Amino acid sequence: SVRDFKKVSDTVWEIPSSYKDGMRVPARIYATERLIREMDDGVIDQVTNVATLPGIVGHAFCMPDGHWGYGFPIGGVAAMDARSGVISPGGIGFDVNCGMRLVLTNLSFGEVRERLRDLVDRLFERVPAGVGSTGLLKISQDEFRRVVEEGARWCVRNGYGWDEDLERTEEFGCISGADASKISNKAVERGYKQIGTLGSGNHYLEIQVVKPENIFDPQLARAFGITLPEQVAVMFHCGSRGFGHQVATDYLQLFLKVMEKKYGIRILDRELACAPFNSPEGRDYFAAMKCAVNMSFANRQVILHRVREVFSDVFGRDPAEMGLHQVYDVAHNTAKLEEHILDGQPRQLLVHRKGATRAFGPGAHALPPVYRNTGQPVIVGGSMETGSYLLAGVETGSQTFFSTAHGSGRTMSRKQAKRMFQGKQLQRDMEGRGIYVRTVSFSGLAEEAGPAYKDIDEVVGATELAGISRRVARLIPVGNVKG
Ligand code: 5GP
Ligand code: MN
Ligand code: MN
Repeated sequence: SVRDFKKVSDTVWEIPSSYKDGMRVPARIYATERLIREMDDGVIDQVTNVATLPGIVGHAFCMPDGHWGYGFPIGGVAAMDARSGVISPGGIGFDVNCGMRLVLTNLSFGEVRERLRDLVDRLFERVPAGVGSTGLLKISQDEFRRVVEEGARWCVRNGYGWDEDLERTEEFGCISGADASKISNKAVERGYKQIGTLGSGNHYLEIQVVKPENIFDPQLARAFGITLPEQVAVMFHCGSRGFGHQVATDYLQLFLKVMEKKYGIRILDRELACAPFNSPEGRDYFAAMKCAVNMSFANRQVILHRVREVFSDVFGRDPAEMGLHQVYDVAHNTAKLEEHILDGQPRQLLVHRKGATRAFGPGAHALPPVYRNTGQPVIVGGSMETGSYLLAGVETGSQTFFSTAHGSGRTMSRKQAKRMFQGKQLQRDMEGRGIYVRTVSFSGLAEEAGPAYKDIDEVVGATELAGISRRVARLIPVGNVKG
């Protein structure tokens, strides 16, 4: 409970390492007082479990959108020393490189309003949604193994996108070190038909509008491409589908076998299964997980291509005439090897971000020249009813190894939401409020109702107050394809 926390600032709460046996570092939760009071106890238990993992440095973090997850909380961030630390699939998530991509048109809402239904209907056809859905892209399993090593580059090379898209994707659309010999046939079988698909539940493809009154930092907004009043944007959220899930499952099983017997690692929760990062099993998982990272970049790249095709069909114009420039693509389920300064010393750290977004500030070498001076764009979902945000990374983000929120985070279980809302009715209500939504599952839609999520304004406000990211613009939904 809040009583156990030390208040570091208005938005940072610390749980000392004396809280639980085995904690190697204190835990820190980023939240306003209101958010922390509403946070479930599972988060406290999980973030303090994470603090016991071998090699963890600094603090075990939870972002303001944090909620209960598998092993780590969603919103969990943990940096491990690259030599002495572990890698844990529970700190990355089953949907490896689940992430968000934001695209800006040069159309105003006035130009799109009349065609909105048509746009959403066609997107619903061209970007398949649902649990086992398969995409329009037909490739062999061998070719798929190349895709997972090349990521979005494979797509652009094959005509699914523009060169500039790569520069505007985290890792330039291809994380190096992906090794397809480390993935199972089962993973390939699950994934090779799923490129260009949304998946289910909280995954979405949304048409949004930036209203002038929702611009918080005009200079950054302009630098990120927001230049028109009521400018129309497309934001989508999806990951590595069944492929990433299988990669995580395969290595969780392996880690459970070797963790204690071979490496003598004892953990408080089986869901935190891990292996030394610097071990054959740890390295293999890292190389396999990177394949899933690349699959996900490829997935979102092909979806971007579909978005351009659909806009072109609906408006009868060349995609490039309508802007359709990607702002950025961010991952929020990964572990990455990064250099950070810790106690004045540069250190090689494996930064787990699970339901957390990397938010590099101005000057970061990993950023492309376009964003070197601004800090990276950070794309944060809210809900299909309320709104979403474009943020920017800031220099003071070093306190969380440059990590911030990834969404608003759930307040309600899916079951609870289904009891409270009725999908068909919700669709009608939303339409009355100017949001046209299509879904493959009405019960799935009910689970995603706005009130099932935290207040996005409060969440991103907390990240800004804490100095881990800065608000650039708020985007409001007008159309949505729901998984
Ligand atoms: P997660 O990655 O944890 O599955 O979800 C990321 C975030 O996306 C959620 O915390 C929620 O805030 C946001 N989100 C889920 N569904 C929608 C949607 O339909 N539209 C928008 N804009 N955001 C959503
Ligand atoms: Mn996901
Ligand atoms: Mn996600």
